[in-house]
Amino acid sequence: MSTVPTIALNNGVSIPQLGFGVYQVPPEDTKEATLTAFEVGYRHIDTAEMYRNERGVGEALRESGLDRSEVFVTSKLNNGFHAHDDAIAAFEESLEVLGFDYLDLFLIHWPLPGIDIDFVETWKALEEVYRDGRAKAIGVSNFQANHIRRLVQETDVVPAVNQIEVHPYLTNDDVRAVNAEHGIATEAWSPIAQGLVLDDPVITGIAKAHGKTPAQVVLRWHVQRGDIVFPKSVTRSRVEENFDLFDFELSDSDLGLITALDKGQRTGPNPDEFNWIP
Ligand code: NAD
Repeated sequence: MSTVPTIALNNGVSIPQLGFGVYQVPPEDTKEATLTAFEVGYRHIDTAEMYRNERGVGEALRESGLDRSEVFVTSKLNNGFHAHDDAIAAFEESLEVLGFDYLDLFLIHWPLPGIDIDFVETWKALEEVYRDGRAKAIGVSNFQANHIRRLVQETDVVPAVNQIEVHPYLTNDDVRAVNAEHGIATEAWSPIAQGLVLDDPVITGIAKAHGKTPAQVVLRWHVQRGDIVFPKSVTRSRVEENFDLFDFELSDSDLGLITALDKGQRTGPNPDEFNWIP
């Protein structure tokens, strides 16, 4: 049914390149929103303990009639649980709330370079849940180049993904290059910059030329750059629009024009400075 390509992660696990993100979807709406995404054809959901809506994702999966194995689900370790034992307990809590016996991918949500607990300790806890099979893959989020280099040097398992902010106004190509150098797949969060890039004349112009919408053009740019994306919307027509990316192709010139829009503009926090514990 799905036309979504898959990407092989560095441990052989296969991930759909396009998924559905549930950040800022209210907990009480998450089951319905996720069920809509499943109906449209999405088979990859990106949630986090911080979003407080893992329960709705698990409920949607059971209500959809899909088999657990048909859907790729990612969750993330919340910032208050970086100490080894806390990380294991938080992982187990995520599984329990989702109602799953494994996660497809579990990430350290933020590196928190300013807190007392070193993310290398946190990563060792993730390695344990990976080795015992309860996480099919493990990775990181918001890790900068120096954070990635430290993990690779000081630990055994290379992260399968690094989920970072990427969109036309923040192409983040330096971190993407370090990810690629180590065989780490890049996941692009806020892929349409929460809507900010959709009125850009370069993007609206390319959209018009292809008979597609600005959101489709930007998501297609990510896909052709090889990144994994999971746009968020609770509006069915947009959920459908964001899934309909595989019947057109951007030219090298289109790709270059969009990449040239980079101005280093973040919509979210700078990971070097962000040390917030909820
Ligand atoms: P996004 O770039 O996906 O933008 C979402 C917003 O854009 C929606 O609220 C909606 O208002 C609008 N929108 C969506 N589709 C549209 C369309 N077709 N046309 C016009 N407007 C449209 O931003 P996001 O939700 O911040 O990011 C996507 C996902 O990335 C999240 O749901 C979450 O899973 C993940 N994420 C991760 C982190 C992290 O720290 N790891 C941070 C932010 C987001």
